[in-house]
Amino acid sequence: MLNKVVIVGGGTAGWMTASYLKAAFGDRINVTLVESGHVGAVGVGEATFSDIRHFFEFLGLKEKDWMPACNATYKLAVRFENWREKGHYFYHPFEQMRSVNGFPLTDWWLQQGPTDRFDKDCFVMPSVIDAGLSPRRLDGTLIDQPFDEGADEMQGLTMSEHQGKTQFPYAYQFEAALLAKYLTKYSVERGVKHIVDDVQQVNLDDRGWISGVTTAEHGDISGDLYIDCTGFRALLINKALDEPFISYADTLPNDSAVALQVPMDMEKRGIMPCTTATAQDAGWIWTIPLMGRVGTGYVYAKDYLSPEDAERTLREFVGPAAADVNANHIKMRIGRSRNSWVNNCVAVGLSSGFVEPLESTGIFFIHHAIEQIAKNFPNEDWNPNQRVLYNRSIAHVMDGIREFLVLHYVAAKRQDTQYWRDTKTRAIPDSLAERLEMWKTQVPDSESIFPYYHGLPAYSYMCVLLGMGGIEMKPSPALALSDPAAAEREFAAIRDKTRRLTETLPKAYEYFAQHH
Ligand code: FAD
Repeated sequence: MLNKVVIVGGGTAGWMTASYLKAAFGDRINVTLVESGHVGAVGVGEATFSDIRHFFEFLGLKEKDWMPACNATYKLAVRFENWREKGHYFYHPFEQMRSVNGFPLTDWWLQQGPTDRFDKDCFVMPSVIDAGLSPRRLDGTLIDQPFDEGADEMQGLTMSEHQGKTQFPYAYQFEAALLAKYLTKYSVERGVKHIVDDVQQVNLDDRGWISGVTTAEHGDISGDLYIDCTGFRALLINKALDEPFISYADTLPNDSAVALQVPMDMEKRGIMPCTTATAQDAGWIWTIPLMGRVGTGYVYAKDYLSPEDAERTLREFVGPAAADVNANHIKMRIGRSRNSWVNNCVAVGLSSGFVEPLESTGIFFIHHAIEQIAKNFPNEDWNPNQRVLYNRSIAHVMDGIREFLVLHYVAAKRQDTQYWRDTKTRAIPDSLAERLEMWKTQVPDSESIFPYYHGLPAYSYMCVLLGMGGIEMKPSPALALSDPAAAEREFAAIRDKTRRLTETLPKAYEYFAQHH
């Protein structure tokens, strides 16, 4: 029986993998995690997808167990500011799209929306976020949504199996370093062997499989399966095994970031329950409100902006609170390993691949990868089909997200700098070009978006197309002949529900001040 796993790297990927494997297999699996005491984790990655709740559920953790330890907050949407033009914003919320007579409500909105704000007309959450509210009441109960929290029949499903069944209304934002610390304790308490040391060499046998890693002070460490969580360095998968890296730079040119962790009095500032992406002259700035500080950073393309100018712009954007904070400059490797599982090595996290964090997908990639590892855990046969299927599923998720991110830039109306003008002439994936033609006359649906599981449903595409404003969208012709009464009733129901929630929900800060 294969049951010895060696994880190299102790960032978010390493510790999420270690804790998940222990939760999945308990004492039947033997996990060693070795992380460098000198090379730090990337130090960012603090906003997530709403599916992340399944990770914590799988570990048997409740919000009250881990959220206070990680200064965590709720994220109900991504808020896009200035992508259409300066002063404009819209939300991409975690909220299932309503459908009326077989047409998504956004399609009816195009035919005859009540106002010019598709997000507030078609969803409840945008107004809740604008008001800085919590999706839970002070007694902990959750707003009513069409999902079943913790329903038995949903337990044990992977994210891809969940998709379409439920849409949980929020994701989490947390301090990455604190989460790694929390998961370290969780894993070590469950028997993970933790070694702090530098891996200096990866040893291969004559078949080209990994036979062990040599560390500076702990000698050789060997196992059956090696998990490369060494971040952008990709020490095992790309350096030792020489697996090629497929760059996405031709379609996603942002290759750099500068980040600041800014302490703030969140009681005074208030907590917007969302991650904000504010477009800039050569990229965009993320703002992630946590309990006690704000995480922020400028994602940009070095061809258009120097690191010094990026840092200056970011500091100006944050204001005096950033004065004494050190900046973390990061070079991003955008793309994916051709295969993430090669021989007896699986890459998880940044070593496997990464796209810029515009829709907070890095931790989602990790979560998806470890679900698939647990599901396809090999035995001594090392059935190659498992690797083929695993690699296919990882490639689909990343290629699908790449398409979705490229769409943001193609659809953004903004064209006021060379950076933004070039987003309209740069090559895009052929498959996306075909879809864009289709979407000009037929709003995106599950048949016309990227056809494999990649974590995003059709309504997400619709939000981006309607919010970014650079591509003219038309309603389905059939709606001109259809009775709009039912859609009007739905718009009215959303208005009522929005009013009810904004009058009764507590402020997000108030909720966390009580529960943390
Ligand atoms: P790292 O954090 O880089 O960890 C690498 C580990 O490998 C470290 O522990 C290091 O010590 C170890 N290591 C390296 N070399 C050796 C060696 N020789 N021997 C032993 N150990 C070694 N994702 C999201 O989901 N949401 C976001 O909002 C988001 N924002 C991001 C913003 C930016 C600018 C970037 C670059 C990424 C962002 N991500 C985001 C992605 C997210 O940060 C990563 O997916 C996540 O942190 C996982 O990183 P990692 O563990 O793969 O790598």
